[in-house]
Amino acid sequence: MSEFVPRNFIQNIIDEDLKENRVKKIHTRFPPEPNGYLHIGHAKSICLNFGLALEYGGLCNLRYDDTNPSKEDQEYVESIERDVRWLGFDWEDRKFYASDYFEKMYESAEQLIKDGKAYVCDLSPEEIREYRGTLTEPGKESPYRNRSVEENLDLFRRMRAGEFPDGSRTLRAKMDMASPNLNMRDPVLYRILRATHHRTGDNWCVYPMYDFAHPISDALEGITHSICTLEFEDHRPLYDWVINNLDLGCKPRQIEFARLNLTNTVMSKRKLRELVEKGYVDGWDDPRMPTISGIRRRGYTPSSIRDFCERIGVAKANSTVDISLLEHCIREELNLTAPRVMAVLRPLKVIIDNYPEGQVEELPAENNPQNPELGSRTLLFSREIYIEQEDFMEDPPKKYFRLSPGKEVRLKHAYIIKCERVVKDEKTGEVVELHCTYDPQTRSGLDQSGRKVKGTLHWVSARHAVPAEVRLYDHLFINASDQAENGEQQEEDMILNPDSLERLTNCLIEPSVQGAKPGDRFQFMRQGYFCVDLDSTADRLVFNRIVSLKDSWAKQGKK
Ligand code: ATP
Ligand code: MG
Repeated sequence: MSEFVPRNFIQNIIDEDLKENRVKKIHTRFPPEPNGYLHIGHAKSICLNFGLALEYGGLCNLRYDDTNPSKEDQEYVESIERDVRWLGFDWEDRKFYASDYFEKMYESAEQLIKDGKAYVCDLSPEEIREYRGTLTEPGKESPYRNRSVEENLDLFRRMRAGEFPDGSRTLRAKMDMASPNLNMRDPVLYRILRATHHRTGDNWCVYPMYDFAHPISDALEGITHSICTLEFEDHRPLYDWVINNLDLGCKPRQIEFARLNLTNTVMSKRKLRELVEKGYVDGWDDPRMPTISGIRRRGYTPSSIRDFCERIGVAKANSTVDISLLEHCIREELNLTAPRVMAVLRPLKVIIDNYPEGQVEELPAENNPQNPELGSRTLLFSREIYIEQEDFMEDPPKKYFRLSPGKEVRLKHAYIIKCERVVKDEKTGEVVELHCTYDPQTRSGLDQSGRKVKGTLHWVSARHAVPAEVRLYDHLFINASDQAENGEQQEEDMILNPDSLERLTNCLIEPSVQGAKPGDRFQFMRQGYFCVDLDSTADRLVFNRIVSLKDSWAKQGKK
């Protein structure tokens, strides 16, 4: 790479650990909870964890963090694997489930009891909260804190055996009720919960808490660097306590980084699930969703997402990234790779009166002026064509370079035409048809006339165009309050955008798109980048607009 890419703070930590011989081979993991579909924030974590493993010649595991039985589902498990693969990463034979370690976690809990480091507590969840104290006041010790090892072991075994009702007892770490860090005030390690688990069924009625399960899972898998988001920073002493008080053969190191927030986007799985369940969107893969499956269906490429994750970098301070950067990444890629085609989204008929009836001309057109390797195609030109309604104005302002009565424009790859007459609907006054003449001397590529016109319009031949549906999208959310001074947007301030989807059902596209398959991408000249949607059938194509051509990121000067 010619460009100098600065190292991020995690790479610096890893470099140091390697230099000091604290680790030999890097081992990371991506640990999703299978309680929803992955989103663009997860993509950041995936690129980071798998990316570091690739960079350092190490390994990255896929691990389902499935210790919370009530919300998990096999559908989510499958979607997660599809998405990680689509992003271009491979966990090889290292797919794990935290639930596979339940027995080991239970044994570890017994070990802590035997070592006098954990106890069974009979306080209710409300009482535990009360006893915990606050940031300014120390907590109070539980009256059950000093039970004997024998009593604790007996009670814990009976918890597992199902002798006590849900929520009636917990296993807690014996730490420090006066610690300034609330997470260290005798945190709960196990709770009683009768719930069917998606893998272990009804085998268990005690389940480990995240803060206990996660370090054990990491250690059992030989993870060297356990990378998580910033909100776990205050949990790190507990992570280390679990690792240091159990002999699991490996001492992983937790490193926190700032999660990705995006303008106009909510990413909490709870909120995304609500959008799906209440029918505000058309499913988890609705092209407006920030889920990886939605982004894929919209037409983003895996490489554009990886590029985005690279550009946003990894930092230790929370911030909100402008969604226009994501759009910029796909534009930049498709500018070089997407074939150009002409598509008329809101058609207006144009009859070229002096063009011979029945004549069809073949006009050559390059597929991508940025990339000659994409070759060329043949356009068909005839007497009746369609242009975009918005490319005509009967009464235009000054400096309007599109079509208007008596004015001339060039049809892309074809001729200069002049608007001679406007036909309107008698009742509504709406313009329904234009009559034009063309200048046969001005065919693109053969034009010797030396004539110049300012406007160039895209068009399709009426007889040859393919009908299609086109879906235009706007952001799913808009910010209800002004953006905060520091540029951060809060998910709470976002409201659903009522105009996030516009369906245009009478679009006409040049015939070269015929036979296109879901996932194929094009630039519709002057309209943006589009991708064939899954809803397409053999005789009707449906396109999603990925992004328009207007690059607000590039305009801002790449902040
Ligand atoms: P939610 O709170 O919405 O359920 P989560 O963070 O609990 O999301 P997990 O399935 O536990 O979701 O996340 C898996 C991994 O992805 C975790 O390591 C988490 O840190 C990371 N992750 C989740 N959201 C983001 C984000 N917005 N940016 C970066 N990493 C994220
Ligand atoms: Mg989580």
